[in-house]
Amino acid sequence: MGADANALKNLFPEGVARLWGSTPPVRERSEKVTALAGRKVGDEVLFYAEKKFVAKARIIGLFDNHALASAVWGRDESQKTWQHIMALDNVVEFEVPAEPVLRGLGVPVPLRSLTLVGAEKRLRFMDMVDPEAPVRPRVNRSSTGSATALGRSDLLRTLASLKTHIRGRRPSRHKPITLLWAIGRLAAERDRMVEWQTFREEVGPLLRDFGLADSRVTPEYPFWHLRSSGLWDVEGVEDGTAAPTPSQLTEAGASAGFSRNAANVLRRPLARAEAIGLICSTYLGEVDREDLLGRVGLAGYASASGDLPDEGGEGRVPRRSRTSSQPVRDPQLVDRIKVMYGHACQVCGARVETQHSHYSEAAHIQGLGGPHHGPDRLSNLLCLCPNHHVEFDRLAIYIDEDWAVRRNSTGDIEYELKRHTDHAVDQQYLKYHRGLCGRG
Ligand SMILES: [Zn+2]
Repeated sequence: MGADANALKNLFPEGVARLWGSTPPVRERSEKVTALAGRKVGDEVLFYAEKKFVAKARIIGLFDNHALASAVWGRDESQKTWQHIMALDNVVEFEVPAEPVLRGLGVPVPLRSLTLVGAEKRLRFMDMVDPEAPVRPRVNRSSTGSATALGRSDLLRTLASLKTHIRGRRPSRHKPITLLWAIGRLAAERDRMVEWQTFREEVGPLLRDFGLADSRVTPEYPFWHLRSSGLWDVEGVEDGTAAPTPSQLTEAGASAGFSRNAANVLRRPLARAEAIGLICSTYLGEVDREDLLGRVGLAGYASASGDLPDEGGEGRVPRRSRTSSQPVRDPQLVDRIKVMYGHACQVCGARVETQHSHYSEAAHIQGLGGPHHGPDRLSNLLCLCPNHHVEFDRLAIYIDEDWAVRRNSTGDIEYELKRHTDHAVDQQYLKYHRGLCGRG
């Protein structure tokens, strides 16, 4: 990897790198030459295959590395390799017919080359490749029956109506806890399906520590009964009338996990944030969210800022793998928003006075750090007083579509968000934040 080894480690501290490469252009002047020269970190990339767009992602790094490309991908028939490499994050898979989009963009169909499209067109046509649209399963569409597509709203509706036992007017917690644990596995890019032995070792202690005090539920219960949600597969056990015992599960070598459809939806950042927020607020209101999310590898979802707290917020959220590569917030942007509002909080209007000036904090709406990976731009920033910054970050308040600032515990409107005419707050970031709040 040469000099790029460190850059890669910094871009992908978790150890899994997502790269996409391009061979050198054949001609001196071509669409590809323009695209290779013009693409930038922060650009969005659409992936095309078989006349469809199949994924989108964001460029977080660019480099040329012939040796790395040939080691990873080999060479094509003309001995070229995919040496113009993009490092990617926010990878979202979906399937959308490409032809109408390409025609709208004035790009020849079928798409034959790396093609760069300007921001203005991108805004117009991104709607047509909405990653929120249902995932079309690419497998199992055989004569054995068609797998049904599952959208983000289907998933959330299902999660909101899990069948849970009621004990002393409180819903039992084994299913929601197990689902959070399984989302944690997806977030860590571990296998969707897990063997019963591992399941028992990992979920058992969670049920003991976070379940209702008087609950005697053991891990085989959610392992088996989550099937009724329609989001959960169990393999290796015949679908009989009685629930299998632990020894039957061991004997059968059973495994369980999210269905392929559900896992696909939960790999999308917004859907995942909303699912976690919804599960926590619907079923686990009395559980220490930071503690539980930390145990299942989802610590960053306990706050809006994630593992890179905004200024002022030291935070109790454990910060893993912080390196110099973490996105650095732009100090000029921070200054700009504070000056724009004259340090007045966009929620309450208060200005904290200091001896010689005033004090305010710039808060990212969709946190800059992992797992949120929000962008560092003005439309994702708020100018807040320290109190409202903490409340916003710790999900005690949220902002609805009509700019009303609401208390999460009651839903009551407390303020209306103050907005400067030069400050276009982007609703998509507020939507992500509402998702974390369980208000998706
Ligand atoms: Zn305030």
